[in-house]
Amino acid sequence: MDRSRTESFPAVTCDRPESNPAKSVPEKTLIRFNAPQNTAVNRAVALAEELVSNDYKMSSSQWLARRFDVNTLASLKPNEIVHGPFAQIIRYEGKRKNTALGSGTYDFYKICLQDHSILAALEKFPDLKLLPFVLYIVVHELVHIVRFTQFVQNFQASPDETMAEEARVHAKTHDILSQVQIPGMIPVFRFYEQWRQPIDDMKDT
Ligand SMILES: [Zn+2]
Repeated sequence: MDRSRTESFPAVTCDRPESNPAKSVPEKTLIRFNAPQNTAVNRAVALAEELVSNDYKMSSSQWLARRFDVNTLASLKPNEIVHGPFAQIIRYEGKRKNTALGSGTYDFYKICLQDHSILAALEKFPDLKLLPFVLYIVVHELVHIVRFTQFVQNFQASPDETMAEEARVHAKTHDILSQVQIPGMIPVFRFYEQWRQPIDDMKDT
């Protein structure tokens, strides 16, 4: 795919239940998912895509698939690595070439999973298991992406808007994942509980 980076800043650094001070850790020392963990991550990503596509009643899951990609630490560039958040979304501009309508552009989103932060959370909170945790993270990021592509939410929002959007996206994520039985989901819901609370104040927004 021909795509060029249009924004490199972490416009959405979400999934941050605690404010951990960012630490500067040399990239090579960061722990990455091992092979069995990568298998679990791939299953979580496939399931997340299916659940979000179904929930938004997209005619074809391909519609969503063409608009995002999930990368783990092994394939992140240094400036795509952050410390604290479990994932960040980076928007790229894809270019269509030689179509009947001429060239055009479209948004493409790269979900950058931060292996080191995810694994640190699993170690700190033993109730959390990798597959349901990554499932939650990826569903959450896909909900953001659907809302960006449907122009419900601007990618470049103010800090206040971003916080309000976080609560809405956590609520939607909880809603989607509550409708299926995924082993290990309850501790993940508990982990993110505090993020959903502000939604009570914004039901009418
Ligand atoms: Zn978020």
